[in-house]
Amino acid sequence: MSSDHISFSEQVEKYIDLAADHVNCPKDILQQIRANNSTVGLNFPIKKDDGTVEVIQAWRSQHSNHRSPCKGGIRFSEAANVDEVKALAALMSYKCALVDVPFGGAKGAVKVETRKYSDNEVERICRRLTFELKKKNYIGPGIDVPAPDYGSGEREMAWMSDTYRSLSDELDCLAAITGKPVTQGGIRGRTEATGRGVAVGIREVFEKESLLKHYGIEKGLKNKTIAIQGFGNVGYHSALFLQEMGARVVAISDYEGTIINDDGIDVEDLYQFRKEQGNFKEYQKGRFSPDNSEVLYMECDVLVPAALESQITKDNWDKVKAKVIGEAANGPLTAFASTKLFEKGVLIIPDIYLNAGGVTVSYFEWVKNIAHIRFGRIDKRLDMTNRLDIISLIGEVTGKKLDEEAVRKHTKDGDERDLVFSGLEETMINALDEIVEIHEKHEFKLDLRISSFVNAINKISRAYTEGGFFP
Ligand code: GLU
Repeated sequence: MSSDHISFSEQVEKYIDLAADHVNCPKDILQQIRANNSTVGLNFPIKKDDGTVEVIQAWRSQHSNHRSPCKGGIRFSEAANVDEVKALAALMSYKCALVDVPFGGAKGAVKVETRKYSDNEVERICRRLTFELKKKNYIGPGIDVPAPDYGSGEREMAWMSDTYRSLSDELDCLAAITGKPVTQGGIRGRTEATGRGVAVGIREVFEKESLLKHYGIEKGLKNKTIAIQGFGNVGYHSALFLQEMGARVVAISDYEGTIINDDGIDVEDLYQFRKEQGNFKEYQKGRFSPDNSEVLYMECDVLVPAALESQITKDNWDKVKAKVIGEAANGPLTAFASTKLFEKGVLIIPDIYLNAGGVTVSYFEWVKNIAHIRFGRIDKRLDMTNRLDIISLIGEVTGKKLDEEAVRKHTKDGDERDLVFSGLEETMINALDEIVEIHEKHEFKLDLRISSFVNAINKISRAYTEGGFFP
């Protein structure tokens, strides 16, 4: 729920209102695009370890079925509510369209905090949830495909997938869930995908000369200072890849506080420390502040909110000093804060673009499951032999031989992770080109978020108008 007195769903509606004047989409079609198609609320019992029964509350919302299946994560959070789930489902529709992932948008939530339950209890929740969704026809490779989100990961997806497979005799049943462990039909690179996409998106923004000139930002990611809110899967991987690309991560926060080091935090070192200790309060290679909101107000080039929605609102937007905000989380800025910061000249890279890496690689996983084959398996050896032939032919013609290292480099096969990252990079770069073009066409007056909504709505509109309706 937003603290700016309008709900999260109303905020998404507001963005559509702002985009509406600039889209190539008939008004009646836009009504269909923005409507939530269907939402189910569930209350189901699970047996706790002490033998008592607890009623678990959950939702699944399918915002759009203009493409099948619809797709989106399932979050586990005590703060979850039906409005939030609907808003996040809508964001998924626009996100998928933006990066040409041929799915509709969906989202689910379970109103629990997994750390308050034993592993066995979480397993029972996941299995019963899958059973309930299957009974209601709210899950399936061609219907609706869940994935990880805030508070869930490979472990939960493995339990859900196992349950789904035990209930189904479909050949493609593995494709009913993405974000699975690799041993359970997952794809290499999915865990890192959202963070990888965030880093690639930010790096590419720092290469866009006309954009940078307009916002008065110096080109190149190297040595740019980064502050990351949230050290979960997305925050950790965003920080790791940004550091690998040459940026300096100067602050990282999580619920226990913020670690600050102007000379740069060793992201992997901090991650391992936190894994062992459970928090980073005692971390010595930086200053610890128990205030976890400090990270939002850091003097830095890029602020990356990678936690939950509504972190920057009417009440605190004016304390933000970053020149660029990269929205790794879904909806971290309220509509009010986003507008104010844009007016102040802050370059905001919107969630529906920046965190689309997760669903993009989920799409690759789904394709892999449907195809029943790992990417690269058929052409790998042939491709390598062809490249070796070309190298030796060049050697014969020129009389010059490549050294062993160069031959290895040029004949290196793309393993699944390389192929996934390459497809992800291509996707992020193309999507950014399209939204920056719209931003520039409107002389930078429509911010990147509304430009993204315009592009997404245009694409969904074409799916309806060129495909027609079932009468
Ligand atoms: N939960 C992620 C998101 O919000 C990934 C969704 C998916 O892979 O389906 O984009």
